[in-house]
Amino acid sequence: MEKILIIDDSLLQASQLKSILMDEYDITLAQTAEDGLHCAGNGNFSLILLDVVMPKIDGFTLLKILQEESGTKNIPVILITSLTDVASEQRGLVLGAVDYIAKPFNPVIVKARVNTHIKLYQYRKQIEQQSMTDQLTGIANRRMYEQYSLTKWNEATRLHLPLSICMFDIDRFKVYNDTFGHPAGDKVIAAVAQTAASRLQRSTDFLARYGGEEFVALSLGEHSDQIFQYMKQIRQAIENLHIPHDPSVSQWVTVSIGGVTIIPEKESKYDVYLKIADTMLYDAKKSGRNIVVWADEKLNQLWETK
Ligand code: GH3
Ligand code: MG
Ligand code: MG
Repeated sequence: MEKILIIDDSLLQASQLKSILMDEYDITLAQTAEDGLHCAGNGNFSLILLDVVMPKIDGFTLLKILQEESGTKNIPVILITSLTDVASEQRGLVLGAVDYIAKPFNPVIVKARVNTHIKLYQYRKQIEQQSMTDQLTGIANRRMYEQYSLTKWNEATRLHLPLSICMFDIDRFKVYNDTFGHPAGDKVIAAVAQTAASRLQRSTDFLARYGGEEFVALSLGEHSDQIFQYMKQIRQAIENLHIPHDPSVSQWVTVSIGGVTIIPEKESKYDVYLKIADTMLYDAKKSGRNIVVWADEKLNQLWETK
């Protein structure tokens, strides 16, 4: 059930709206702008119904705040008011409200408007989701990675936390395609992605398809020794899928992994460290593949030994 937040100082009015909508939606009531703002930021709402006339902070002011906060700016807001004059309607719409409902409420109109905006919101979310997902593997795509890496880099810099950047690349995959065909290759890419994704599920972990048969993982908050151990387990888990490779190359499909852990300073540059992760991957390939090579916080190299 989609969640709707009603912010209205009049309990009577809010209850009327709730009774019109409660069969189809999960309704939360907030009686002050402060409470409404707090709920909106934490509640995963698909729509906000906001009363214009409220004591202290009015609906227009709250709407402006909601539009500016990153956690609430994408939630559509319908304004509720008895002020049916054109000036208020205009002001609300200019401030970014998606629609307007006038008091006294006509249940059919309220439902119709709410349904329309909930549908639009769902559609927009779906499109956003699709545009951020890699179709073949179901994990995040490059575009999502570009956004996420920037956010996490800033977070790590601000909070002075270690961030790990990790590149995975499937070994001798051109040969795999040549031997087994492209469709079989696609299945391998999906299987490798799923295996890595199932082990990178903490809220501080992230995995994306970087391109082709390459993946990039980010992990926030752990030091290189822990992450290095963790990546060795992932490498092993992929080998343990026991997907037969072309025997002239190796028994099973494997990946090489290169990464770096840094505690970024203000003047540090993300791209420099991405390049270091890539260099570690290159070293892993050069040394015979199916291995993890890492650069720790002091840029000492850690080599997996088997
Ligand atoms: P290395 O161990 O050095 O990584 O060797 P490699 O053969 O994996 O590396 P190379 O970069 O030469 O080749 C990567 C191959 O991955 C080439 C391409 O055919 C294959 N590939 C890239 N994207 C896809 C894809 O979406 N599906 C399939 N099936 N193959 C892909
Ligand atoms: Mg490659
Ligand atoms: Mg490869």
